[in-house]
Amino acid sequence: MEVKILSAKFDIEDSHRLEVAKKHGAYGTLEKLFAMDPADVIEEVKNSGLRGRGGAGFPAGVKWGFLPKDLDKPIYLAVNSDESEPATFKDRYILVRDPHMMIEGIIICCYAIGSHDSYIYIRGEYTSQLKILQEAIDEAYEAGYLGEQVAGHDFRLDVTVHRGAGAYVCGEETALLESIEGKKGQPRSKPPFPAVVGLYDCPTIINNVQSIASLPFIIEKGAEAYRAYGTEKSAGTHLFGISGHVEKPGMYELPLGLPLMEVLNEVAGGVWKGRQLKGVIPGGSSTPVLTPEEAHTVTLDYESMAEHKTMFGSGGIVVLDETVDIVKLVENLIAFYHHESCGQCTPCREGLGWMLKIIRKFIAGDGREDDIELLLELCDNIEMKTVCVLSAACTMPVRSYLEKFRHEFESYINSSNSDPVQSQAE
Ligand code: SF4
Repeated sequence: MEVKILSAKFDIEDSHRLEVAKKHGAYGTLEKLFAMDPADVIEEVKNSGLRGRGGAGFPAGVKWGFLPKDLDKPIYLAVNSDESEPATFKDRYILVRDPHMMIEGIIICCYAIGSHDSYIYIRGEYTSQLKILQEAIDEAYEAGYLGEQVAGHDFRLDVTVHRGAGAYVCGEETALLESIEGKKGQPRSKPPFPAVVGLYDCPTIINNVQSIASLPFIIEKGAEAYRAYGTEKSAGTHLFGISGHVEKPGMYELPLGLPLMEVLNEVAGGVWKGRQLKGVIPGGSSTPVLTPEEAHTVTLDYESMAEHKTMFGSGGIVVLDETVDIVKLVENLIAFYHHESCGQCTPCREGLGWMLKIIRKFIAGDGREDDIELLLELCDNIEMKTVCVLSAACTMPVRSYLEKFRHEFESYINSSNSDPVQSQAE
């Protein structure tokens, strides 16, 4: 079931070193790349069906096509390595185990879109990853893969790493740009979109680490070879981080479109300790939860997730076993997003705080039946009424827990301070 495209070098000792990476094919696409017309590179990426791997799933080549033509301004590429979504830990593997694959992808993207300056925005907490990444960039400069003449071709490319300060919201693309510009990391109102007015008011493409790292394979083997994996609308492979209550948590590269339960049972060893499945978070904490019944019918692709009224997200799958206290899980979730709100929109800043107070009433044994309705009403009044989607990243999953596990909230009301999970077990 597992495939090795992005992860091909992950198990090779010192694969982050240029010397080792080169022996295994790193930078092997550059001669082919520079013989191609940039427009043909964009076309190849469009044909591959590669979709943004940061969570939104927007087709990468199509996004590149939004750049205005013949504008007398520099074009920037910003690589989003913020990776702060809880349960998401895929990009760090690329940064640490194959940073040259990403740098090669940056060269491909920049050549295609006509950019000579790229920024890698890395999560503030990723200190060891930053060190390895910077060493790889230094090696690439020294070897002539970055700098005035990339691989001896008449193409300049500089890459700068910008370290974040640990704010989840800076994974939102416009907050990321504000942060690179040295401002407070707060999202901008859109439109205009970054492809038109981005970094320093110039056209900017923002792509996730995994999206960029997928490019060398696409250029080397061609769009059709990439499409040989996955489904028609969800092409290629994805790094899935599987965590929670499974026997074998870890990071697995899989083609898109596989049945979720097959992956959980055959790749991740099934629910741990022989326990029953209570639910699955399919793509990071912001994605609506799936019940066991839904988990048995969904496949790991964008379309099936949408049909199940959830999202593919970042591919960070969390398995919840029968002992999970959903009310406490929801408290944890709201507390996180409330803490990470940048505060510029009232519904997000105040609304998430109200939701946190209400959920804590349940835990204190003071919850009332109409508090469930109140929480649902708050979700409706907050969602999509703010500058960015951070608020929705909280309300969408909370609504799913309230609707699918309402009995657990009611159980807190009916049994006051008693633990509903414990009561069920008894
Ligand atoms: Fe900031 Fe929240 Fe508004 Fe996003 S929704 S801009 S995080 S206040």
